Amino acid sequence: MLFISACRPAALPHKTFLVMGTVFTVTLPADRADYLEPAGVLSANALYGMENRLSFYQADSDIARLNQAAGAAPAAVSPETLTILRAARRYGELSGGAFDITVAPLLQIWGLRGGPPPANPPAPDEREPIRRLVNFRRLKIGDRTARLELPGMQLDLGGIAKGFAVDEVARILQRHGLTNVLLNLGGNLRALGAAAPAAPWRIAVQDPFDSGRVLGALDLRDGEAAATSGNYERFVAIGGRRYAHILDPRTGRPAEGMASVTVIGAGPDAAMDADALSTTLFVLGLEAGAGWLQTNCPGGAVLFVPDRRPLELHATPAFATRFTPSPECAGLLRRLP
Ligand code: ADP
Ligand code: MG
Repeated sequence: MLFISACRPAALPHKTFLVMGTVFTVTLPADRADYLEPAGVLSANALYGMENRLSFYQADSDIARLNQAAGAAPAAVSPETLTILRAARRYGELSGGAFDITVAPLLQIWGLRGGPPPANPPAPDEREPIRRLVNFRRLKIGDRTARLELPGMQLDLGGIAKGFAVDEVARILQRHGLTNVLLNLGGNLRALGAAAPAAPWRIAVQDPFDSGRVLGALDLRDGEAAATSGNYERFVAIGGRRYAHILDPRTGRPAEGMASVTVIGAGPDAAMDADALSTTLFVLGLEAGAGWLQTNCPGGAVLFVPDRRPLELHATPAFATRFTPSPECAGLLRRLP
C-alpha cells in the first residue's frame, strides 16, 4: 500500500510496474537516468520470480503447495521460502502470536480473501474452530521441506513477503554496483545511498484518513527501510462497517484501534523487519504496542496513528527526532516514552 511515497517522485527518474498484487517503483538520482533500464529489469526479474514462489494465489507456488498439503506430507520448498518461514516464526514468537503467517483461514471467513463478504460478522462459534487452525507453531520447518500439521491450515506471507522482496532487490542492485536507489513495493520502502550528495532520500508519510494529505516527511539513511500498515486501502465492509485486512489471531477478529502504523527499519533485513513489525504493532495497538516496543525493541522508530478523530500522532523518541511534521500536523505530534 502506498501510505508512503517518495516526495516529488515525478522529478526523479523512476520506473513503475505491478507485481505481488501492488505497485513497485524504483527511483534513481537525477543524474542516473541511464541506470533506470537495467535497474528495472533486474528488479522485475527478481520480483516476478519471488511472486511465483511466494504467492498465496499462484497454484504452483511454494506457499500454494504447502497449503494443498496441509495435514499431509511435507512439501519441498526453495531455500528462500525456508528463510522467510524461519523469519516469520521468529516474529511470531517475538510478538506472542500477534504476528502469525497462518492467519489466512480467518481472513477467509471475514471475506478478506476475495469473493463476496459475509452478510454478518462471523459469530464466535463460527470463528472459534477456524481460530484454532491459526497457529504458526504448527508449521514445521525442515532443512528442505516444510509442513502444516493440521488439515485446513493455510499460510499467507502478505505481512512479510513484500518487505523480504525489497531487501532482496536491494541486495541484487547493490551487487550490480548501484549505490543510490530508492525502492518502494506497496508502501515497503528501502533506501540505498542518497538522492544526491548531502540530500538523503526523503519520503512522505500519508494521512491514513486522507490519502491526498501528508502527515510529514522522513529522511531515510543509507540502508534504512520504512513500512506502513493501514486500515483504509484494503478492507471489507460488513453491515455498513469497515474491517481492516489485518487479523488479530488471538481474537479471530480484524484488528481495531489503529488507522496506520509506520516503522523505520535498519540492518540487513531492514525492510522485512519493518514490514513484519508494522503488521505486529497494528494488531497490538497503541498502548500494548508501545509497551511491547519498550521491552522488545527499545529505540525502535515507530509512528502510531489511532483510528479516531481528531487526528493524533504518537511517535517513539527515535521516530520523532527523524520526522518533520507538515505544518498542520506539528501540534498533533505526541512523544511516547
Ligand atoms: P499490506 O500488505 O497491505 O501492505 P501489511 O504489511 O500490514 O499490509 O500486511 C497485511 C497482510 O498480512 C494481510 O493482507 C494478510 O495477508 C497478512 N496478515 C493479516 N493479519 C496478519 C497477522 N496478524 N499476522 C501476519 N500476517 C497477517
Ligand atoms: Mg507489514
